[in-house]
Amino acid sequence: MREQFLTSCKRIVIKIGSSLVASPKGGLRLDRIERLAKELGALQSQNLEIVIVSSGAIVAGISHLALDSYPHELPLQQASAAVGQSRLMRAYETAFEATHHKIAQILLTHQDLADRRRFLNARHTLTTLLQLKVIPIINENDTVAIDEIRFGDNDTLAGQVAHVVDADLLVILSDVDGLYTQDPHLHPSAELIPFVPVITPAIEESAGTSRTQNSRGGMITKIRAAKQAGRFGVSTLLLNGETPLALQQVLDGQKGGTLFLPQESSLTSRKQWIAFTLRPKGELRLDGGAVQALTLRGKSLLPSGIVKVTGTFMPGDPVTCATEEGKSFAQGLTNYSSETLQRILGKKTSEIRTLLGSLEYEEIIHRDNLVLTGS
Ligand code: GLU
Repeated sequence: MREQFLTSCKRIVIKIGSSLVASPKGGLRLDRIERLAKELGALQSQNLEIVIVSSGAIVAGISHLALDSYPHELPLQQASAAVGQSRLMRAYETAFEATHHKIAQILLTHQDLADRRRFLNARHTLTTLLQLKVIPIINENDTVAIDEIRFGDNDTLAGQVAHVVDADLLVILSDVDGLYTQDPHLHPSAELIPFVPVITPAIEESAGTSRTQNSRGGMITKIRAAKQAGRFGVSTLLLNGETPLALQQVLDGQKGGTLFLPQESSLTSRKQWIAFTLRPKGELRLDGGAVQALTLRGKSLLPSGIVKVTGTFMPGDPVTCATEEGKSFAQGLTNYSSETLQRILGKKTSEIRTLLGSLEYEEIIHRDNLVLTGS
């Protein structure tokens, strides 16, 4: 099953971790970048479509600026990224030029994917680049990203990119071999798990809270990225990028790394975007009747079922729907602002008409704009 799937993948997003391509003291690892370029270029020459998400800008910047360690302050991280990103791309450009492959730089913030038009635009650009046989190299636009618009770590960004390009496979290359039954640094008897059909809470637990020193991610963000990619129908492979030819071998059907299968999903791309790309601006707590209408009867959300509104949002913004006790179970796009909702919550349509003078939409969230997230 694992081999069969991996040998049939065509469009692959490959995330390259910071530690593979740079170190704070030594700067960019040009030999490593050259090797990766050769290997990934060879995959493209075999007619696979390759999209790279590469970290390393901040670490490369730290080295060039001779900073002591990975900075905690956002402005310093951003300054390092600004210094390091051009150096990182120069290294990729040189390495891929030597193998006669064309590359392109794309810098994204969370906002670029949260806005549907920009999301579709990014999709068009990326697929056009792939048609032109160009390998896009993506990073977070660290220099402008502030907390609200940041992906935060490139594992998460890569998971989103896999959705944007509708990839068959997301590969996360780092300095670990894959997911182990226990932390292999602490437990020498820990075993590598080759195949994870479902990401259970036990699997998430085995990822612990590990975090590497020179990046924003860790095993937990990798599992989260795998989970996120899975919701979009994309499988994820964790693999050690320090091992030469590891990816080629796995794609040829050999052993290596951990493969996570996606959960079955029949959601359209638009609904996936509503549920998992957008960040909610507020929360609507609903009474039992409304919860049932939404979860069991496939209905839209009406004002009468809302008991509490929190957050500040405008029409069209994403909001979560939760039970009266605060258990969230759906996400959707609201037709009304939080201000209007505060005035009309719990009321019947006829009362609202009197209160507002008119009623543009009967539904607060139309069924077409609502996704059950099941959590
Ligand atoms: N975007 C950051 C960089 O290029 C990396 C974030 C991460 O470590 O995941 O340095």
